[in-house]
Amino acid sequence: MSAQFTLAPLPWNEKALEPVISARTISLHYHKHHQTYVDTLNKLVEKTQFAGMKLEEIVQATAAATDDKEKKIFNNAAQVWNHDFYWRSLTPGKTEPSGKLASAITRDFGAVSTLISELAEAGKDQFGSGWAWLVAKDGKLAIEKTADAQTPMAKGVKCLLTVDVWEHAYYLDYQNARPKYLEAVLGKILNWDFAAANLGQQDDATAGAGAGTRAAAE
Ligand code: MN
Repeated sequence: MSAQFTLAPLPWNEKALEPVISARTISLHYHKHHQTYVDTLNKLVEKTQFAGMKLEEIVQATAAATDDKEKKIFNNAAQVWNHDFYWRSLTPGKTEPSGKLASAITRDFGAVSTLISELAEAGKDQFGSGWAWLVAKDGKLAIEKTADAQTPMAKGVKCLLTVDVWEHAYYLDYQNARPKYLEAVLGKILNWDFAAANLGQQDDATAGAGAGTRAAAE
């Protein structure tokens, strides 16, 4: 039986984010961490009611799970989705907020630099492993932080950008200096075009990463 989920390709080559994130970090993070979440998820969902379901549906269906196996399914499914979303939140090409996104940033934060400071604070404040997010919620842009595999998408919140603050995302390049990693990522390689595209999608809060992790061919 073929695997339900496959590891989506990276949107750039593994050296592309240097010197902000090294090829060594990307390689380990993608081929070991992200791949393991995909492989574990495939094993866990086999012959369950989650077999054949879309990734987003599995995340949302298991977000409040109390059963141990369903909690594991949530953790792995959410980490597959979060990593797909993270890779696409980063780009080696310099981008700037434009159009509707730029107006929304001015309206809700005053300036891009304020948004970046708040996103950096959220990443620093997240105790232990987790994620910092730019989301659109209740008609406004907002910053959120989540622990471990938790994701705003699980509650149907529209995600615009994310930054992984698990140690594996930065330890080889920055050791324990999470603030330095955040400063470099947020200042140099955020993909504002991806954020703008996500904001532009009015009808589906989960559409931002929908194309990333494809179900394997039937
Ligand atoms: Mn990670």
